[in-house]
Amino acid sequence: MLVVMQAHATEEQVREVCKRIESFGLKAHPIPGSMRTAIGITGNSGAVDIGTLESLPGVVECIPVSKPYKLVSRDAKEEDTIIRIPAPAGEVSIGGQAIVMIAGPCAVESEAQAMAIAEQVAGAGVRLFRGGAYKPRTSPYSFQGMGEQGLKILAKVRGRFGLGIVTEAIDNESLDLVEEYADVIQIGARNMQNFSLLKRAGRARKPVLLKRGMSATLDEFLMAAEYILSEGNYSVILCERGVRTFADHSRNTLDLTIIPAVKKRSHLPILVDPSHGTGRRHKVLPLSRAAVAVGADGLLVEVHHEPDKALSDGMQSILPGEFQLLAEEVRQIAAVVHRTVN
Ligand code: PEP
Ligand code: MN
Repeated sequence: MLVVMQAHATEEQVREVCKRIESFGLKAHPIPGSMRTAIGITGNSGAVDIGTLESLPGVVECIPVSKPYKLVSRDAKEEDTIIRIPAPAGEVSIGGQAIVMIAGPCAVESEAQAMAIAEQVAGAGVRLFRGGAYKPRTSPYSFQGMGEQGLKILAKVRGRFGLGIVTEAIDNESLDLVEEYADVIQIGARNMQNFSLLKRAGRARKPVLLKRGMSATLDEFLMAAEYILSEGNYSVILCERGVRTFADHSRNTLDLTIIPAVKKRSHLPILVDPSHGTGRRHKVLPLSRAAVAVGADGLLVEVHHEPDKALSDGMQSILPGEFQLLAEEVRQIAAVVHRTVN
């Protein structure tokens, strides 16, 4: 259920409506828009007395929302959400006119490795650095990440280059630590339906980058985001990273058709990860071009200065020089679709 407020409704009137919703034992989510505020209601909204709400001052109408997701929907908020990341070298916006570039290694492997890559990507104009300190690996014998030590290295990267940090939390314990160190908390594909982790991320005070599960439908993806918003964290960035199909020429099938589909249904920004989406270095550049052309709000790219020695995902990591070229081409394509690069 959505309560639509009048364009000139006062803050006091919005507060009163929220109070009334909460008196029914439900949760109220005021969503300010450029024209008007809408108030999303979550919980069993069968219990809502529509007549009472519609008679409150400042209310235009109550609209039942038939879609399973509410807060992530364009019905709740017509205009695109812009998420502002306060990186040390200046704020970075995700979801606006500018396309964001996030680059870095799959995993933090050592201070020297992280610094070497960060220097190169920062030189190519990147302002957000990626790198996992906690790695969800298929095999228990593969490198699992450096844990908190890796987060400390990321903090040094942040300090030295002024880069904002995007890093993954794999469970509730790691999320506590990641929340302290990161500017953006990543939730990986394998955890897209880890509902307790999504709820914890919803209580975090940092933006969340939510990757699509490898067999998730669009509705499942948006419902996972809804979990985070329903707990009060409205700063969610979606990320398409490829799904499992019968195709065996690439690690995953990068589903670029989801970009316009998400844009139609949701106000949340969506990025593309061409590295996991393809699994092969030579496919990263062409799919990055395509992602920007199709309307993605940014790219999440794995870069390694010595990919053959990488402890994870070396085959899909591009060299810093290749990344530089990618960034230049993306700038040109962005201009064609009337966007700039952050
Ligand atoms: C990653 O970004 O390094 C990662 C593990 O991605 P995904 O969750 O998409 O596999
Ligand atoms: Mn990876």
